[in-house]
Amino acid sequence: MELDDLIVYHAGDFKPYPEAKLGLLTHAFNYGTGCFEGIRAFWSDDAAELYVFEPTAHYRRLAASAKVLLMDLPFAADQLAELTAELCRRNGFRTDVYIRPVLYKSEETFGVRLDDLEHDLSIVAFPNNKYLDSNEGVKACVSTWRRLDDNAEPARAKITGSYVNSALAKSEARLNGFDEAIMLTDDGHVSESSAANLFVARDGTVSTPAVAHNLLEGITRRLVAQIIARELGVPVVERTIDRTELYSADEVIMCGTGVGIAWLRSLDHRIIGTGAAGPLAATVARVYDDVTRGRDSRFGCELRAVHGTPALALT
Ligand code: PMP
Repeated sequence: MELDDLIVYHAGDFKPYPEAKLGLLTHAFNYGTGCFEGIRAFWSDDAAELYVFEPTAHYRRLAASAKVLLMDLPFAADQLAELTAELCRRNGFRTDVYIRPVLYKSEETFGVRLDDLEHDLSIVAFPNNKYLDSNEGVKACVSTWRRLDDNAEPARAKITGSYVNSALAKSEARLNGFDEAIMLTDDGHVSESSAANLFVARDGTVSTPAVAHNLLEGITRRLVAQIIARELGVPVVERTIDRTELYSADEVIMCGTGVGIAWLRSLDHRIIGTGAAGPLAATVARVYDDVTRGRDSRFGCELRAVHGTPALALT
């Protein structure tokens, strides 16, 4: 993919990627004062159509993140969902796509604060289908870096600067020979991985860390909980989870827009379950693929068709 060939949305207009520039004193560049989303669009061979997955839910979450940073979205979530489909249409994508909207403090100025600053929205979309190579299962470790606390920098808001916390954990893991890091809260309970939520199957039950454990309330997490309840007949319990519960789990799965559905082969050199993909991972991955590619509408997810809808006129 050549970045220069992309059409992006920036400062209220569609334009070629090379024309979307930011100045060196842009506040968000200096202080991490932006918030963002990761959205996917999935190509369906059957329908010969590209579907943007749950865009309105993502823009609603962006609005909630923006509120924490004293910003607001330039349009309603539903209009931004349509704008995103239009961006994919203008790029002529006919493959899986990753979409990155960023709402950021755009003022070129100096001084740490959130109030009294201009902000702007950019959206970049590019062909992409893999974030983590996870067919053989993920080799994870528990990070020595603790998850950001809600009272320090809320993980519930998807703040650009907060991703240094994830990056510290992820690079520590990679440099020590692992694929991924799992972070604990400051009081030592399981939170999430660097960019995905977790589900733990143990003795016929499935649990996931409760939202008060400093995690991003994932849009995939919500769908996965519904899939588990419906397909496996097991309600998901949100609770406090200890590190060693993961060691003795039958299965641990990770889920998120980037990773999709992945399963842990090992954690801290302990094999999880049999060390192979178990029934939870297999079922959730199969149904998730059907839902995101428009073959299963039982979960009421929003799939916004890119090519089969009329072009959007910008006002
Ligand atoms: N946690 C973190 C820290 C993330 O960055 C992501 C990816 N957005 C997730 C969880 C999963 O969230 P979602 O399913 O909404 O992509």
